[in-house]
Amino acid sequence: MKGRVLVIEDDQDISLSIRTVLSRNGFEVTSEADGKDGLRAFHSARPDLVILDIGLPSLDGWSVLERIRDLSDAPVLILTAHGRESDKVRGLHGGADDYLTKPFGNSELAARVEALLRRPRSAAPPAEVFDDGSLQVQLESREVSVNGQEVSLTPTEYRLLAALIKHPGQTLTPEQLLKLAWNDPFGVGPDRVKFGVMRLRRKLSQNASPGRDPGSSIEAVRGFGYRYVAPKALAGVAAVPRGAGSSTTRSSPRVDGTAGC
Ligand code: CA
Repeated sequence: MKGRVLVIEDDQDISLSIRTVLSRNGFEVTSEADGKDGLRAFHSARPDLVILDIGLPSLDGWSVLERIRDLSDAPVLILTAHGRESDKVRGLHGGADDYLTKPFGNSELAARVEALLRRPRSAAPPAEVFDDGSLQVQLESREVSVNGQEVSLTPTEYRLLAALIKHPGQTLTPEQLLKLAWNDPFGVGPDRVKFGVMRLRRKLSQNASPGRDPGSSIEAVRGFGYRYVAPKALAGVAAVPRGAGSSTTRSSPRVDGTAGC
């Protein structure tokens, strides 16, 4: 068995032909025909690779891709419709590893899948809980608490926080944050980042104790962007290993020289 592949595709003919080709080539293949079911199958089966259609019922491929990338580095091959060139760019920015345009040939499909599985992946397993002594984030259930008290965040605020804590001490530009939290690859409206950070800080500071305030851990780096620096008293205790979740910025430039802790 060369690897476990999850196919999320609502077109039954395409799904069947992918399953046939890949099982003939030695892969173990499962499939789902709907975005939500696909995501559930991803969580329970933890496949080695995902083949993801974009137009899907209940939850589209973009949302599925984003949720997969929140917690996993598994390669994702997206299927785009013929003539939708912009989908390729959007997919690659969103963390997809490769794409295939429908209709595609059987040998091309098998070759792409094999190539993706040969690629070296980040060695660190995805961290499931972030805890730096004052801020706790359950990355699977998206629960956030400060000093044991639950904090209710909007999906955008959560994604903004997740982007920052997955890169502790690293400054992310407003453009990177727009891409990661707002899914806006063109970066229109950096003011949204400023106000988003303001709201997030306010919520995180509500139950914080002095010196252990995750709200003030989100620092503005003038002229560059924002970063999350673990509370001073606990510097160095960041629970997320460096590199975990780095796949989210695989296609983005990194800002160096501003590492904090
Ligand atoms: Ca479809």
